[in-house]
Amino acid sequence: MWSCCRGPLPDPPYANYREAHLIPFNKPFMTGRELSHIAQAHANGHLSGDGQFTKRCHALLEQRTGAARALLTHSCTAALEMSALLLDLQPGDEVIMPSYTFVSTANAFVLRGAVPVFVDVRPDTLNLDERLVEAAITERTRAICVVHYAGVACEMDTLSDIASRHGLAIVEDAAQAILSSYKGRPLGTIGALGALSFHETKNIISGEGGALLCRDAHFAERAEILREKGTNRSRFFRGQVDKYTWVDVGSSFLPGEITAAFLSAQLEDADLINQRRLAIWDRYQDWAARHEAEGRLVRPTIPADCVHNAHMYYLLLPSLEARTQFIQSLRQQGVQAVFHYIPLHSSPAGRENGRTGSTMAVTDDISDRVVRMPFWLGMEAHFPEIFAAADVALAG
Ligand SMILES: *Cc1c(COP(=O)(O)O)cnc(C)c1O
Repeated sequence: MWSCCRGPLPDPPYANYREAHLIPFNKPFMTGRELSHIAQAHANGHLSGDGQFTKRCHALLEQRTGAARALLTHSCTAALEMSALLLDLQPGDEVIMPSYTFVSTANAFVLRGAVPVFVDVRPDTLNLDERLVEAAITERTRAICVVHYAGVACEMDTLSDIASRHGLAIVEDAAQAILSSYKGRPLGTIGALGALSFHETKNIISGEGGALLCRDAHFAERAEILREKGTNRSRFFRGQVDKYTWVDVGSSFLPGEITAAFLSAQLEDADLINQRRLAIWDRYQDWAARHEAEGRLVRPTIPADCVHNAHMYYLLLPSLEARTQFIQSLRQQGVQAVFHYIPLHSSPAGRENGRTGSTMAVTDDISDRVVRMPFWLGMEAHFPEIFAAADVALAG
């Protein structure tokens, strides 16, 4: 009777305390200077794109990467779409790419009518397996879109050699790879075109945001035009033409100045952010060594030619069941770990718009076993809790 009048009794206090106070998987890091940069943009009264802060970001990115041209976009997705436009892809053209990636890698090309041809990944780096690429090339192949998973480079010498022998362009989905390099070359500038992301889950952020990198001057001028709705507006503002007009098929790919102001603060502190991320990554890697030695998991591999940027810390557990249990146990202990990437070749839109160009044995296997640990600046204080919880989860 009481329960009828009062409704169900509340849960005992703090029963869900741990669930409600999870150590989150991600938390955006802010340097503290973003707001003053935004205030400056506000005071400048220039809020559309390509103002002072966008130019500052372009200069910083060009300095850091050595790209002939860096152009801010509103996302990495937009930069990939620009790449597909710049390559003049036609319906039926094929683009080789991994299946173990985010959907934007494929969408950008599918929007142009091109067909993603999915190739398996390497079991060590989870990057496109360069040994399987050549067999997937047909007379319709136009490009290879590599993804540097976790900010660790693909085997770019082999891939560049394959691409040049077959007359293919390389686009780098370097969404996760800012400040990473391969044999000393910054990722995003080894292929003709590279796409960076500044989404809040990445290393350097502006909420939503991205950049297109043009390795050499070849694509730079047309990239500028496509980004400005197909007009030569940028040349007009530089006084290079006396009126601006519609000259190509493009769209609006540029962010406004408020976003660029935020991003400029982050880019100015990029090295500090990178160092702190690497220190976090190293602590995970040290902690996991014993578990790897005892066969409970496999740690990530960084090939000798690669300098990475600690974009994420992932582990490979022995099976899907082991991963499910691990994530659940961590959750019960107040730690949020996640998995990701349903392989594109087994997704509804991937099956409809793409095809496989190799077996998918590794992709199918590892996509069930990858788990990503919490990773954000400021989480260092939680390491004792996270390691203790993970030790328990792995013991069970
Ligand atoms: C995050 C990510 C993207 C998309 O980036 P946005 O800036 O959100 O468009 C594309 N590819 C990969 C591999 C990513 O990790």
